[in-house]
Amino acid sequence: MNRALKIGILEGDDIGLEVVPETIKVMRAAAHKTGLQIEWFPLPIGRKAFDELGYTLPPGTLDKLDTYDGWVLGPIGHQAYPRDQPNAINPHPILRKHYDLFANIRPAKSFPGLPALYKDVDLIFVRENNEGFPPDRNVFMGSGEFRPTPEMTISVRIITRPGSSKVARAAFELARTRPRKKVTAVHKDTVFKLGCGMFAEECRKLAQEFPDIAFDEVMVDTMGMKLVMRPQQFDVIVTTNTFGDILSDVAAGLVGGLGLAPGLSAGPARAMAQATHGSAPDIAGRQIANPYAMIMSGQMLMAWLGHKHGEPRAVQAAQLMEAAMESVIKAGKMLTPDLGGKASTREMGDAVAAAVAVL
Ligand code: ATP
Repeated sequence: MNRALKIGILEGDDIGLEVVPETIKVMRAAAHKTGLQIEWFPLPIGRKAFDELGYTLPPGTLDKLDTYDGWVLGPIGHQAYPRDQPNAINPHPILRKHYDLFANIRPAKSFPGLPALYKDVDLIFVRENNEGFPPDRNVFMGSGEFRPTPEMTISVRIITRPGSSKVARAAFELARTRPRKKVTAVHKDTVFKLGCGMFAEECRKLAQEFPDIAFDEVMVDTMGMKLVMRPQQFDVIVTTNTFGDILSDVAAGLVGGLGLAPGLSAGPARAMAQATHGSAPDIAGRQIANPYAMIMSGQMLMAWLGHKHGEPRAVQAAQLMEAAMESVIKAGKMLTPDLGGKASTREMGDAVAAAVAVL
C-alpha cells in the first residue's frame, strides 16, 4: 500500500470520551513503531455533536466516512438522547446499514491473571449485524415492531439467504486463520423452521465449501447451557443477530465482564471498531472504565485493515497492540478497578502504549 491509511475517530458518548482517546493513543504508538502511516480524522457524533451542532449524526458525516478506510466508534448512549428531537437519532443503524457492516465479530478471551469464571476460554462470535429481530435493522423504513391493538405487539424478524450466507462465509474464513479451525452454527431451526432453517441451510452449504473446517450446530437454548458449563469447546460461533447479541454478552461474563469484550463490525469495504459494551453512564466521567474492550477493538480494526489492504505494517501493528495489552495484564499493576486494580482508564492506556514502544 503506497498511501497512508485513513481512520476516523468518533468518540461516542459517556465512557466513549474516556476509552476512545486511549485507543487512539495505543494505535498511534503501534503505527509509529512499525512505520505505518495513518491519517486521523476526528468527527463529531452523539450527544456532544447534538449539543454543539444540533445533530447526533451531523450532515456530511457519511460523505466524510466514504473517504476513510475504517473508523473507531465509541459507545453510543442513545437511550439518553432527547426523545422529541428528530435530529437526535441513534447513528448506529445508519452506519451499519450504509456500509453493509454485516459481520459483528466479538471475541471472548480469558487471561490467567484476571478475576473471571474461566481462565482458558478463547472463542469468537460472528454475529449477523443487519437483519434479525432488532426493529432498527429489519425494515427499510419505519419500525419492525408494531402494535395493532393496545394488547398486542408484533416483532418482525428478517432472515435472508444472502445475509446468512455472507455472515457464514465470514465465520468460515475467520476459522481458517485460527488454530482449532472449527465453526459452530447456533440457531433453533426446530422451532423457527423457516427463519433459522434458512440460516442453518446456508451455514451447511458453507461447511461443504470449507471441508478443512470442523462444523457443528447447536440449538440456541442448549448453547446457553454449553457456553456456561464448558465454553472451552467452542472456537468460532456464527449466529443470527439477537442470539449473538445475548450470547456474546454471556461469553463476556465468562471471561471477566464487558470491559474485556471488544468488537469489530466489518463489511465488504470498510470496518468499524466498536466495543461490545454500551456507553456505561453509571461509571462515566470517573476514569474508571476499562479501556481494554475499546483498545482491542482498535486492534481488530488494525488487523482487518492490514489484511484488507495487504499492508504488513498494519498486521504487525495489530500484533504489537495485542502483545502489549497481554504484557500489561500479565504484569497486573496498571489495571482498572473492574479487573481488580487501582489504575485509571488513562493510566492503563498509557501503560499499553508504553509497552508497545518497548516491545
Ligand atoms: P447497551 O444496551 O448500549 O449495550 P447496556 O445497557 O448493555 O448498554 P453497558 O453500558 O454496556 O449497558 O453497561 C453494562 C454494565 O457494564 C454497567 O454496569 C457498566 O458500568 C459496565 N461496563 C460497561 N463497559 C464497561 C467498561 N469498559 N469498563 C468497566 N465497566 C463497564
